[in-house]
Amino acid sequence: MAAPARKILLIDDDRMQFRLTQAHFKNFRRERYELDWAATYEEGLEKLLHGTHVACLLDYRLGERDGLQLIHEAAARGCRTPIVFLTAETAERVDIEAMNAGALDYLVKGEITPRMIERSLRYALKLGETLEALRRLATRDQLTGLLNRREFERILPDEEERARRFGHPLALVMFDIDHFKLVNDTHGHPAGDIALREVARRVAAEVRTVDRVVRFGGEELVLILVQTDRPGALWVARRVCAMVARKPIGVSESLALHVTVSAGVGVFPDDADSGLALLNAADKALYAAKARGRNRAVAFTEL
Ligand code: GH3
Ligand code: MG
Ligand code: MG
Repeated sequence: MAAPARKILLIDDDRMQFRLTQAHFKNFRRERYELDWAATYEEGLEKLLHGTHVACLLDYRLGERDGLQLIHEAAARGCRTPIVFLTAETAERVDIEAMNAGALDYLVKGEITPRMIERSLRYALKLGETLEALRRLATRDQLTGLLNRREFERILPDEEERARRFGHPLALVMFDIDHFKLVNDTHGHPAGDIALREVARRVAAEVRTVDRVVRFGGEELVLILVQTDRPGALWVARRVCAMVARKPIGVSESLALHVTVSAGVGVFPDDADSGLALLNAADKALYAAKARGRNRAVAFTEL
C-alpha cells in the first residue's frame, strides 16, 4: 500500500489561489501531496498549531493582517512547520522581511509553475528537517535528551517574566543523584551513564508536558514547574524521589543498582525575587536534603 500523501497547508484568503495551487499539485512530477486550505488568519494559525501539515504555503496579504505577523505568532507559540511565502509583489523588501521572519522560501504568485512550487516545497521540507536537527543539538543534552543548561538559561527569565506578569507561582526543583561518584568508582563510567539516563527518564515521566526538565550539570537535573506552588512542587519532588528509589536500575544482565536522588524546592516569589535567586534557593534546599540523609525532598522554607 502506498504511504498516505503528506499534507501541505495553503493559507490564502483567495479561493482562486487555492484552485490554482491544487491544479499545480496535480502536475507535480515526483512528489504527491494533499493540499489543505485555510482562508483566514485565525483558521490558518489554528491549523498550523494543531494540524499535521508537513509544510505551509502562506499568502502575504491576509485581509487586515499579513502573513509576516502570522509567521511570528505561530513561531512564538512553538510552531516549527516549514513555511514558504507567496506574494503578489516582487518587492525585495518583502522577500527579505519574509526570510527574516523565518520563511524558508518566497514565490511570486504570477510566476509560479508546478515545477517551481514542487522544488520549493522539497527544499523547504529538507531544510526544515535540518533546522530541527540543529535546534535539537543546540538545546538538548546528548546523553539524556533533556534540555541543556543553555536552554535553561534562555527559558528561566521568560518563565520568571510570565509568572510576574500573571501573578502565578513558579517552582524549581533541583535533583542530584546520591553518592553517584561511588556508582562510577565501583561499576565504571558506562554503568553510571546508563543509570543517569534512566534517572532522567523517570524524572521526565513524572511531570506535565508544560513543565521542563533540564540536565543542569553532571548528575544534577532541574525541573521548571510553571503555575506551581510549594505544596504542588514538593509533591512532585517527593513523587520523583520515590519513583527513582522504587525499582533498581538494570545496567547490565547481571547488575541492577539501587539509586536514589535528593531534591531541593524553591518557589517564586515566596522564596526568591528573581529566577537566579530561585535557583540559589533550590540549591540551598538540595544541600539541606543531602545533609538530612539523602533520598528526600526539602523546601527552602524548611531550612
Ligand atoms: P552526593 O550524594 O553528595 O551528591 O554524592 P556524589 O558522589 O553524587 O557527589 P559528587 O558531586 O562528588 O559526584 C558527582 C559524580 O557524578 C562525579 C562525576 O564523575 C559523576 N558524573 C557527572 N556527570 C556524569 C556523567 O555524565 N556520567 C557519569 N557516568 N558520571 C557523571
Ligand atoms: Mg550527587
Ligand atoms: Mg552533584
